[in-house]
Amino acid sequence: MRMILVGPPGAGKGTQAARLIDTYRIPHISSGDMLRAAVKEGTPLGIEADTFMKAGKLVPDEVVIGMILERVAKPDCAAGFMLDGFPRTAPQAEALDAAMRRAGVELDAVVLIEVPDALLEERACGRRTDPQTGTIYHLKYNPPPAEIVDRLVHRKDDTVEAVMTRVQKYHSETAPIIPFYLAKGILKRVDGVGDPDIITQRITAVLSS
Ligand code: AMP
Repeated sequence: MRMILVGPPGAGKGTQAARLIDTYRIPHISSGDMLRAAVKEGTPLGIEADTFMKAGKLVPDEVVIGMILERVAKPDCAAGFMLDGFPRTAPQAEALDAAMRRAGVELDAVVLIEVPDALLEERACGRRTDPQTGTIYHLKYNPPPAEIVDRLVHRKDDTVEAVMTRVQKYHSETAPIIPFYLAKGILKRVDGVGDPDIITQRITAVLSS
């Protein structure tokens, strides 16, 4: 299975990807996680990406495209992969398409997790990640156990201001890639509002239909 998870910031892509990889047993490739790791390590790529990320802006295409195409060419992706957060612009979608054509493989599905804008700010700003397990919590909707609260991380770009910029970027840069996948007949729309377990069921249902 070669698939992509698309959706606005706070749609639940990371949460759903973590659940889905147990079922599909394919690598979960999150461009955001890879960039955050590069920032933490202080690599040249991380230093370049940091300013864009803090402001909620997109990291330039040439940086992200190289990083992801290199990752999906690794042997563990030969039988499939789940991309989360990439592609996010038309040039990224085209670069992925061209690389897959060169490799003689095809995408099976693009899952679009739809959540109204009005819910995104609260979802993203209440998000906390456990650095030890990678588990994503929400202070109100999926509260973490009391004993781990002190070690949870609040992303630098999960602030009201950065989330507003990220939502705007989603509409101006990412939403235009949707017709590209619709035309290929592989776009699956999923309602992303509700209990995370139910949303996982919705995704597995559209993927098996
Ligand atoms: P995410 O964890 O997917 O919400 O991504 C966090 C941030 O990383 C984004 O707001 C961007 O600054 C950057 N980023 C992640 N993926 C991409 C991408 N495909 N293209 C450009 N920037 C990205």
